[in-house]
Amino acid sequence: MHRILVTGGAGFLGSHLCERLVYDGHDVICLDNYFTGCKKNIEHLMDSHNFELLRHDITIPIFVEVDRIYNFACPASPVHYQFNAVKTIKTSVMGAINCLGLAKRVKARILQASTSEIYGDPTIHPQKESYWGNVNPIGVRSCYDEGKRVAETLFFDYHRMNDVDIRVMRIFNTYGPRMNPHDGRVVSNFIVQALKGKNITIYGDGSQTRSFCYVDDLIDAAISLMNKDSFTGPVNIGNPRESTIRELAEIIIELTGSGSKIICSKLPSDDPKQRQPDISLARSALQWKPHTVLEDGLQKTIEYFKRYLQRE
Ligand code: NAD
Ligand code: UDP
Repeated sequence: MHRILVTGGAGFLGSHLCERLVYDGHDVICLDNYFTGCKKNIEHLMDSHNFELLRHDITIPIFVEVDRIYNFACPASPVHYQFNAVKTIKTSVMGAINCLGLAKRVKARILQASTSEIYGDPTIHPQKESYWGNVNPIGVRSCYDEGKRVAETLFFDYHRMNDVDIRVMRIFNTYGPRMNPHDGRVVSNFIVQALKGKNITIYGDGSQTRSFCYVDDLIDAAISLMNKDSFTGPVNIGNPRESTIRELAEIIIELTGSGSKIICSKLPSDDPKQRQPDISLARSALQWKPHTVLEDGLQKTIEYFKRYLQRE
């Protein structure tokens, strides 16, 4: 059993991770400043003797005795990370420095939730870990993309200079229950719009692609990467099935039986045109691959949002 710090533990992915680690019997400290996460996401864990909450902002140093750190604190949706761009880059960079400093001091193994955004608008398809990316350094997405790139640099420099035991996981678009319905991500937007009978808002003509991974598969990968000895990554984690945004809208309309119409509006700047992970490394190094079919994962997510909207 381990003593584990999960930063961003009250967010979408962090709450699923805390849940899995608590149920596996580990001592879990969930750190969050509740910028995009909420206590509701982890309220079912509050009574567990092996779960603790810590309201803290990761841009400020922290000292806790742990032997594993999952660094997930950072707003992940374009709407939220652009809300305060300077704060986003501070969270990525100072958050990484503070977590790595802690890992060095207490000799903890540390995993970074990195992102496919470090590839920017990729010119290589599908994306392999060896690709260095095509990122605009001064655009509206740069606070997130460049922040996450610097965080990766910090992870590898702490590893080379201080022998910190790092893991770097490049997460591709992930969806599932507990996504924040107000954060503007495509899966939550389309499902909520479909359930409310509102127009489905495609940005651009909907020909841009993404590859969607169900949250349970992602959590399996995070835990397996953390537990793997002598392997730093970076490693792509995602579902290689690629869909256009228009196809996603059509699947969601069909699964919800909604009468919503699709409308097109302006494409945000620097919106990547295509994205698909090459997961050969995850398959060989972690013996991991996603199991959840898109339609099944969407159905579970739709059920979650139905319950959520009834409560609202
Ligand atoms: P989320 O917004 O639901 O969760 C982020 C959590 O971090 C929230 O609980 C938020 O309150 C917290 N947080 C933000 N700034 C903080 C700070 N300064 N101090 C402490 N806590 C802070 O997003 P998510 O989808 O769960 O993403 C989690 C991590 O995974 C992020 O680092 C994100 O970059 C990465 N990621 C997610 C995806 C995805 O598709 N969901 C894809 C790539 C990478
Ligand atoms: N998108 C869309 N309609 C929406 C929300 C998003 O067409 O209501 C598009 C967005 O422009 C992007 C894709 O869906 O091309 C994925 O957007 P998201 O914000 O979920 O993730 P990211 O762009 O960070 O991959």
